[in-house]
Formats: sequence, structure tokens, C-alpha cells
Amino acid sequence: MPILLKHLPKHLHMKNIKLLTAIVAASFVLFIGCKKEKESTDSSSERLRSTNQAAVRTSRPTPAALEKFNKLKALLPANFQKKFQENAKLTLKQHPEYRTLIRQALKLEASACNNNTTLNQWLGGQLSDWNEDVIYYVLATGMLDLPAYDALIFENSSANQRFGVNGEYTQRLTKTFKDLQRFWNIQTQNIKMVAMHGSTLTDRTKLIRTYRAAFGLSTSDAEFYADFVLILLDVFPQYRGGNHPIFTFNAFAQPSFNFPPNGVIPDKIVMGDGILEAYTAIGFGDVAPQAILAHEMGHHIQFQINLFTDENSPEATRRTELMADAYAAYYLSHSRGASMQWKRVQQFLQVFFNIGDCSFNSDGHHGTPTQRMAAAEWGYRVANNAQKQGYILTAQQFTALFEAELPRLVTY
Ligand SMILES: [Zn+2]
Repeated sequence: MPILLKHLPKHLHMKNIKLLTAIVAASFVLFIGCKKEKESTDSSSERLRSTNQAAVRTSRPTPAALEKFNKLKALLPANFQKKFQENAKLTLKQHPEYRTLIRQALKLEASACNNNTTLNQWLGGQLSDWNEDVIYYVLATGMLDLPAYDALIFENSSANQRFGVNGEYTQRLTKTFKDLQRFWNIQTQNIKMVAMHGSTLTDRTKLIRTYRAAFGLSTSDAEFYADFVLILLDVFPQYRGGNHPIFTFNAFAQPSFNFPPNGVIPDKIVMGDGILEAYTAIGFGDVAPQAILAHEMGHHIQFQINLFTDENSPEATRRTELMADAYAAYYLSHSRGASMQWKRVQQFLQVFFNIGDCSFNSDGHHGTPTQRMAAAEWGYRVANNAQKQGYILTAQQFTALFEAELPRLVTY
């Protein structure tokens, strides 16, 4: 595990290893408890079930696909899921709150937050036809991580990227990315903005390279599991041929790191189709892509001016996350930035921050929804004052102001 991870900046390591290990371990422990929870389905889930019939696919696998599935399944080693647990040696600065949301939607984890938000309901609806087998195989094969790992390791150029399942966000994200590069005074030319698509799961070559690079599988094992994933997509229509938003429900920023034998991975922002689809579906398609991207660019400001400390604590994560929220709000509302109506941005952030964690002791604590909103409101006010002079603060100036404000923000 440390062979790869030592190449990653220190601040990303331990917490994420622990997090990943905890998640992987919990996946199986909690999966066992899943049956029980399923039985106690409450009336609100029933309602979602009936209102989301559109999400339910009725097509059935062909007999040939089923036969191949049973054949491959019989060849799986008894403890095959452990392979992904033990070999998951790559980790990344994945926003834990997205993963938490997914795990809650899969009923693998309880939430301290209000989990009856529009987003939770939407995601629940998308998963209403996921039975235990469907859930089991995504957890056991690492399918939830494959698109993210493939984008992280192998998508190394901003050229020819399309964003959204049908490329519907390509133009806007490309424009916002350029605008963010202009807006902030840091060196942003080397940052690549790349997409994360569920269609990765339909590409045998990509599956093999990712199983090898991220999970450390031998070529023959990687081929076996790649074929298994392809068959799973045929057998379970619930995966929507890889296009289910759960596979790409994430966005993250990653600083450059050396990853032999694949070489140096550049500074990167990865934007998942699933998270874009989700926010569009619940009515925030006009603001969510820009806001999510602005937050990720905030992390690159932090990488570049060295704002991450080695400290591994909820306080440390909360500081950098609230700061990224403030950078985003500053850019989004600034008259020389995205120049968006603050009311509209606020409406989105209200929903966005609600997927945050509400428990200070949780891994990768992001600040409570109230603290995150306070940080964003503060960023907006700074922009509003500065724009009288039409002035854009440097990242360093803005950060100094933020650090002075932080003790107040966390009292909320
Ligand atoms: Zn963040």
C-alpha cells in the first residue's frame, strides 16, 4: 500500500487510507445487515418507489448472458471481494460526503444529517430497483470506484473531454474552467479538467488497465474481472449499461503525483457525470456545474499555495473545505467572476451543503451545513465589497482574510 501512496502528498494519505479501509470493511459488514433494513421499508420509501417507476428498467438479460454470468460466478474465488479490499492500494481525495450519500442511499449507512432532502429522494428513486444482488456486485467488484480511478490515472489531458453522458455540460464547464483560470492569480495552466463517465465500465481495455493499476491485479485476473463486470452490465439492467449516476457521483481535485509505471499524473480536476445529472434533475442545472467546479478549483489554490497541513484531524479538513466553499462563493458572486445572482447561488448551496456531514467526528469532516453556508456567505460579502473597486483579491489575500474569519465561522 505505501509504495504507491508515498508519491501522494502527505495530507491526502493517512486519512484516506483509513477512510477507504473503513469504507471497504464496512461495505461487507453492513451489507450483511442490509437484509434487515430492507424489510423495514417505511412508507416514504414506498412512495419513492412508486413515484420513480420511470427509473425502473424492465429489460431482462438474455439466456446467453445469464449462462455466462453463472459460469463466471462459479469461477470466483470464495473470498473474491477481499481482493479489492486488500489490493485497493490507490486512494484519492475523493469527497467523502458524496460516498457517504451513496452509502446512505444504498441503506448501508445511517446519516446524522437530514437525509430527506430533494437530492436524497432523487438518488433513492434512482436506486429503487436495486435489490441485494445488484448492490452486492457493485461493492464486491469495486465498480463504484472504477470510473473514478480510471479518470484519475489515465485521463491526463483536457483536450477532447466531454462532460455529461451526452456532452451536455461540455461547453459550460470548459468556459467556466477557463474563467476560473483567469480569475485566480495562481498558476493554473497545468491543471487538467477531465470527465468521469460510467461508460468506462463498458470498455474492456479501460477496465483491465484500471484493475491492474488501481487494484494491483495481475493481467489475467484483471481480464477475468473486466469480463465479469461486462457480464454484470448485461445481466442487471439496473446498472443502466454503466450510465447509472451512482458510478460517477463525484467530483474531486488531485495534485500532481508520480505513479510508476504510469508516470507523473498531472494536477487534475475530475468531474463526474452522475453528480451533474443529479443536480440538474432536481432543478439546479444552471448553477451546480459552475459551483462544483469552483469548489474544486479552490482545492488547487490550496495545493499550490501550500495551505494543507500534515495535521490529520476533523478541524484540519473542516478548515480546507470551508475555505474551498468561500473561494467558490467569492468567484461565483464576484462581478468579474461568474457574476451570478447570489440568491440563486444560495439556493443551490443550501442543497449542496446538505449532503455534508453533520457529525464532527466523521472522517473527513467538511463542516456542518450551517458552517459551510456561513463560509460561503462570508465569501460573497467579500466579493460584494471588493467589486466596488472592481478588484479581484489575490488567492493569498483572500486566504489571509479567510484565516482571520475562520474562528468565527466555526462557532455556527
Ligand atoms: Zn472539497
